[in-house]
Amino acid sequence: MNLIRKEIHVKISEIYTEKAKISRTVFAIEVFPPKKNASADKVYAALEEIAGLKPDYISVTCGAGGSDSGGGNPTLEVSSFIKNSCGVEPMAHLTCVASTRQNVIDTLNALKQNNIGNVLALRGDINPEVTRENDFEYASDLTSFIRTSEEYRNFGITGACYPEGHVESETANADLKNLKKKVDSGCDTLITQLFFENTLFYSFMEKVRLIGIDIPVSAGIMPVTSKKQIERMVSMCGASLPAKFTKMLARYENRPEALRDAGIAYATEQIVDLISNGVEGIHLYAMNSAYIARKVLENVGKLL
Ligand code: FAD
Repeated sequence: MNLIRKEIHVKISEIYTEKAKISRTVFAIEVFPPKKNASADKVYAALEEIAGLKPDYISVTCGAGGSDSGGGNPTLEVSSFIKNSCGVEPMAHLTCVASTRQNVIDTLNALKQNNIGNVLALRGDINPEVTRENDFEYASDLTSFIRTSEEYRNFGITGACYPEGHVESETANADLKNLKKKVDSGCDTLITQLFFENTLFYSFMEKVRLIGIDIPVSAGIMPVTSKKQIERMVSMCGASLPAKFTKMLARYENRPEALRDAGIAYATEQIVDLISNGVEGIHLYAMNSAYIARKVLENVGKLL
């Protein structure tokens, strides 16, 4: 008996193609699996609400130590819930820095068995607490492994990209050249790191097209929910904060609800401007908040 179900998933790249035909924008929401010691019921209730907003797809993060580093495979479980219980297409994040080739094969098989056909192929952050494996050095190695193997080449593969350059890269230009290699190794769409200044995205996109990358790119937008959260994110990814944004943080940092609403308004303004300028996709880092995802969609849903 063949345990692998017949593949009935839509590739993310096909969603872009369909949306482009009618001049519309792909809208995706990123979620993360329940953290250790957190209430899984609460997280799953939020995920169900987020899926009920019917984004074009939902991407599901995984730890840099691989999707099963905490025991089980939370990324797979959440992706399967989104696909098989909520009926929304998931994109499972897949890091490789701490994975052997066999770990990756096991994860890809499990994804196929759960009818999940899209991955975000990532290297993952280098973390001294996580043992590095040697099978994949860069995300492009993982991408090319998936794209060239008989069993997995049908996966939709998305890659990550960095409008301000990746933190480890000496120059944004060097990072862009590496991005071109990654795309050539088999990505069919890209998602950017979060940014708070649209002009950074527009000038990045000019360079992306000039270097010959012609696949769809979604803009990563994160509505700020707390000063602490932003400081943590920015220290990890190096995104710059425009004065308009830091003034907002300073004014509302001690009024959480005011800051949340200001953050939603700021993200809304970014999204309206991006859509007006013809962005192909929006990737909302909603931090598992159904409230934020719903409010943003109430503001921009008709534009999409
Ligand atoms: P790569 O594309 O491999 O790039 C890493 C660095 O190596 C860059 O500086 C690049 O310029 C350089 N490089 C690439 N190829 C070469 C080469 N051939 N020669 C020399 N240098 C090279 N992390 C998680 O742990 N879990 C997640 O779920 C997760 N989701 C993410 C989602 C998005 C949309 C984004 C933008 C990032 C996400 N990350 C996640 C963070 C990501 O893992 C880190 O940014 C990581 O440091 C780089 O991953 P990458 O796949 O972009 O790496």
